[in-house]
Amino acid sequence: MTGVELITGTGRLMGSNEVEVISKEGEKRLLRGKNILIGTGSRPAIDDIPGLRESNPMTHIEALELDIVPEHLVIIGCGYVGLEFAQAMQRFGSKVTMIDHGERVLKKEDPDVSAAIGELLQDEGVEVFLKTFVKEVLGESGKTVTIQIEKNGQSETIQATHILTTTKRLPNTDGIGLEAAGVEITSDGYIQVNEHLQTNVPGIWAVGDVAGTPKFTHAAFNDFQLFVANVTGGNKSTKDRLIPYCLFIDPELARVGLNETEARSKGIKYRLFKMPIAIVLRSRATMEKRGFMKALVAKDSGKILGFLSFGASAGEVMAVVQMAMIAGLPYKAFVDAVITHPTMAEGIKFLFLSELTGSEVKQEIIN
Ligand SMILES: Cc1cc2nc3c(=O)[nH]c(=O)nc-3n(C[C@H](O)[C@H](O)[C@H](O)COP(=O)(O)OP(=O)(O)OC[C@H]3O[C@@H](n4cnc5c(N)ncnc54)[C@H](O)[C@@H]3O)c2cc1C
Repeated sequence: MTGVELITGTGRLMGSNEVEVISKEGEKRLLRGKNILIGTGSRPAIDDIPGLRESNPMTHIEALELDIVPEHLVIIGCGYVGLEFAQAMQRFGSKVTMIDHGERVLKKEDPDVSAAIGELLQDEGVEVFLKTFVKEVLGESGKTVTIQIEKNGQSETIQATHILTTTKRLPNTDGIGLEAAGVEITSDGYIQVNEHLQTNVPGIWAVGDVAGTPKFTHAAFNDFQLFVANVTGGNKSTKDRLIPYCLFIDPELARVGLNETEARSKGIKYRLFKMPIAIVLRSRATMEKRGFMKALVAKDSGKILGFLSFGASAGEVMAVVQMAMIAGLPYKAFVDAVITHPTMAEGIKFLFLSELTGSEVKQEIIN
């Protein structure tokens, strides 16, 4: 027994230490507490594009409820959510078209990563329109939609059956009584918290998406762990924690720590190790040879600054490197370690062994 009481209803701050909960049946309850934790999450939002809202587009919520395979699905946004749905729907049998105004998919990743993911989707038959703007939408998603796009100054029209929009998520801060309690928000609308997850109001804390934490379940869960530690007298901070992520396409894309773009923009010197996944013997056994691994290593200390795997079991492989990073191990620890053959994690050893062996492995020193 945890001693937790679960009350189902809509909560709202009534002051700095009071929350009112209204149940579905309209019953009200007033709760008082020394500490209040806000974890209301975020929700999808629809861009202000003429006709888009009226076309009743799907967000990920409706897309996850679909009980048919759309004949032709247009996805607006080439970020994580869009890409996962695109590959899944294409494999279910939809014709899928993706549209994004950026120059590449996954724009926060390094250009070689974006290119590899874009190629994967195109090889599977997904049509990807980049540097493309949706100008107007006519019709109704689920029936017929006509989407007017502009690419390189040229207008084009796409006829489809469904639209899924994945471009924006907004924090759930409306109507939860932040003003009544005097809780401040950031210019982007997230609850303002310090590195200990405290708001400006003593006793009110916020965690997860609504607090502007990177939008991952594991990050929200770690916020909660920090909150528990801090509310019971600890002094845990969100500063400098490693937050990994995994994009669940096939094969997976997983990253922890710095990528090249971030290292360069921060002026951090690094050694780059990059290797095709096909070098990993496990990938030859399973015939899952698509992708690559790369790692950034500090020039002076040899510590691992960042790791990315695009390949089978990438999420699991990344966790191995993440633990080495947390322990502050140099990359050579992998060279010396005996790692089970044939596993995908064995590839980390090959990646770092490359300075002794690999001609197929790229090594660069970035000054
Ligand atoms: C399509 C999609 C795929 C994703 N895939 C992954 C993934 O693979 N891995 C990953 O790590 N992350 C993934 N995420 C992100 C992840 O879901 C979120 O980052 C995570 O759920 C955030 O946790 P949270 O506790 O902050 O908010 P939530 O999980 O959104 O929980 C907030 C809860 O608060 C409730 N609530 C809101 N307002 C009130 C109120 N006034 N009163 C009472 N209750 C309220 C909501 O109903 C909800 O239950 C994905 C997100 C999307 C949209």
